[in-house]
Amino acid sequence: MIGLVAVAAMASAYLTGRSDERAGRPFGLVTPAGAAQGQAASPVKALSEQDVYFPGTEDLGPDEMRVTACGTGMPNARPKQAAACFLVELGNGDKFIFDIGSGSFERLSALAIPFDYLDKVFIGHLHSDHFGDLGDLWVGGVISNRQRPLRVWGPSGAKPEHGTRYAVERMQEMLTWDAASRLGNVNTDGQAIELHEFDYKGINQVVYEENGVTIRSIPAIHALDGPVSFILEWNGLKFAFSSDTYPNTWWLEHAKGSDIAIHECFLPPSLLVEKQKFPVEDALNVGTQVHTSPAMFGKVMSTVQPRLAVAYHFFNDFDVAPEVERLVRRTYDGPLALAVDYMVFNVTQDEIRTRMAVINEDAWPLPSVTPKLPADPKDRIGFTEFIESGRAVFADVIQRAYDETNERFGTDVPAPLDP
Ligand SMILES: [Zn+2]
Ligand SMILES: [Zn+2]
Repeated sequence: MIGLVAVAAMASAYLTGRSDERAGRPFGLVTPAGAAQGQAASPVKALSEQDVYFPGTEDLGPDEMRVTACGTGMPNARPKQAAACFLVELGNGDKFIFDIGSGSFERLSALAIPFDYLDKVFIGHLHSDHFGDLGDLWVGGVISNRQRPLRVWGPSGAKPEHGTRYAVERMQEMLTWDAASRLGNVNTDGQAIELHEFDYKGINQVVYEENGVTIRSIPAIHALDGPVSFILEWNGLKFAFSSDTYPNTWWLEHAKGSDIAIHECFLPPSLLVEKQKFPVEDALNVGTQVHTSPAMFGKVMSTVQPRLAVAYHFFNDFDVAPEVERLVRRTYDGPLALAVDYMVFNVTQDEIRTRMAVINEDAWPLPSVTPKLPADPKDRIGFTEFIESGRAVFADVIQRAYDETNERFGTDVPAPLDP
């Protein structure tokens, strides 16, 4: 929406010949040298900056915070919207992932950031749409050259088996074969997990404090005991992220004065029935008791009064957004963004700029930050004799692959023709 409006404004500025105020330069039509005067010629220079964000191309100012929506949808991820995930990047170089819902790993991969820097994850609660891609970040991050341990923060539960430790340890157990299969085949330095489970009942409790960044948790009310919301403060800027919650007093008190406040805003009950095919009873219960409805979201933001309120957790389509906005506006008239994946917010003391990221679908992983050593073949678990006996060894093809690759990279790796 915002992107379209911006593009339309730029187009009209271009057509009327108005200058681009921010860049302070005109939309000059620089014609090719030698073009005859008075004769129409198309420009040969780029006309203006586009009001979009191209990942990996913009420095972050020392006092700037950049928040990228990497998942804004529902538990059933779809091509347009992964499930909950927001990346926060700070001008001091720190990066934090808040929730890592189903499908969001792919979004993070598109942001042209070395995975060594995507090593801190804060999980608000243990619904799969908020941590379903943790396994992908764990394994896929290693394959994408992360050599640092993955650091994970998440809440306890009313019972040990409802806590983050239980979930993450079982996730690692679930991936036992996967982890074992990689030993000796790829560098697994990044395979360690550093887990921090904290008390879900803590009110404004500090769960992280490093390098001038403080992250606090407050309890949330959602489905079962255990969920929390997070508040990050750095350099005079305040970011609040609800994960999922029914409106609650802790958020109303502690998210107050946020520069950017991201809170769930579920589909209204009518659309849960019509579009998501819920029975009416379930739509009313889930839409107003388990989650925060759009009008409830508006009430929350009217109390908290952030510089920018960001609504997420609904399928944001042309026919849904107007209805969500209509209901939010019943109870809130402040600055508002209805988030969709790849919406980017640049936050400084002076300005909050909202744009859409334009990503490269052909993105490949960036190198690791420290030189990557090859795996040690001695760590390989190997096969049973039975499975080994089935190998069809195309020795000539393998030898040639080794020879050509060694020649290209100046190495001398021997071909294992007799495994
Ligand atoms: Zn949830
Ligand atoms: Zn959710």
